[in-house]
Amino acid sequence: MKNVMFILDGFAYEYVENDAFAELKDFLQFIIPMKPSAGWSSKPVLFTGNGPRTNDLFTQYWLSENSQFKWLKINRRIWLPPMFSAFFTGFFRKLLSYKILPNTRIPLNALQYFDVSDGYVNALKIKQPVGLEKEELKIVYTKIVDRAGHLYGTQSTETCTAIEKVSEIIRTTLNVGNFDNLFVVGDHGMCDIKKKIDIVPALDSTGLKFGKDLLYFIDSTMIRFWFVSEHSKEVVTEVLEGFKKFGKIIGTKDAKELDINFGHKRYGELVFWLNDGVVFKPSFYHRWTFTGARKNEGMHGYLGDRTVFAVASKRGLQFKRAKEAEMTSFYPTVMETLGKEYKCEGKSLLR
Ligand SMILES: [Zn+2]
Repeated sequence: MKNVMFILDGFAYEYVENDAFAELKDFLQFIIPMKPSAGWSSKPVLFTGNGPRTNDLFTQYWLSENSQFKWLKINRRIWLPPMFSAFFTGFFRKLLSYKILPNTRIPLNALQYFDVSDGYVNALKIKQPVGLEKEELKIVYTKIVDRAGHLYGTQSTETCTAIEKVSEIIRTTLNVGNFDNLFVVGDHGMCDIKKKIDIVPALDSTGLKFGKDLLYFIDSTMIRFWFVSEHSKEVVTEVLEGFKKFGKIIGTKDAKELDINFGHKRYGELVFWLNDGVVFKPSFYHRWTFTGARKNEGMHGYLGDRTVFAVASKRGLQFKRAKEAEMTSFYPTVMETLGKEYKCEGKSLLR
């Protein structure tokens, strides 16, 4: 049996309307928008059918008492300069065989409190859908659409070219017909950046001290807080009130729906999530190039994000009717299509 899975990084659902991709629709029995799982969690969700909570994975960094960077006891805020950051991280990774180091711009005073989350480290080890052997499923992974989207935005010629290239590869496989089941899936979408906001001055103006009163981690599309001193939560909530047209505090109900109601606070005690198209600048993920600030027109990790899930199969499959798919339904659908045993939280979309 020949089975192929195309994993398209950063493939927003709207890209299916691109002429080159739209041509593939005649071959695909099933094509549906899929809601990506929250934060950085998509890979294990796609490969296990279990949500962020079970994989204990929300974001790349979490709070860690035993951080590999604990020795960095710096109190002043120092943003890692771009080239130093790259050198520092590459050098120490080799020298001390640290788990993973940031190729990011985490300020040195913040780095000592955080570490790469276990969920993220574990996710890196999962290379295949659980329960499938390498020869049972060929995986083709491509990042070109994600890259073009980040750098030039969703409407750019660069993104269009990337979608065409990807579509061409898929079409060749479909034309040759040398497969039994073919899956096309994205790990998340892409959104054009419309607004960049800086929350750091507002937090500084409260007089709260990083490390002493509070901790925060600024991901591009969210900021996560931990409160040390008693009144800090109240003060921060007030600051966030001033930012409410740019995003929202994730409440208990939201957290449950997003499956990020972890039994611990390592991913944050309070999460403020930005609206689609808004990013924090600076954030701890702001990347630079040799020539200065990297071009950055697109971002993902929003609540309105949608990607694609499509199937072409030589078996007569019947799919359930649905407006959109949860990401946890991908794995069980694949396993059922291949006639394999599986166990997971997600529900198959096959009838
Ligand atoms: Zn990306």
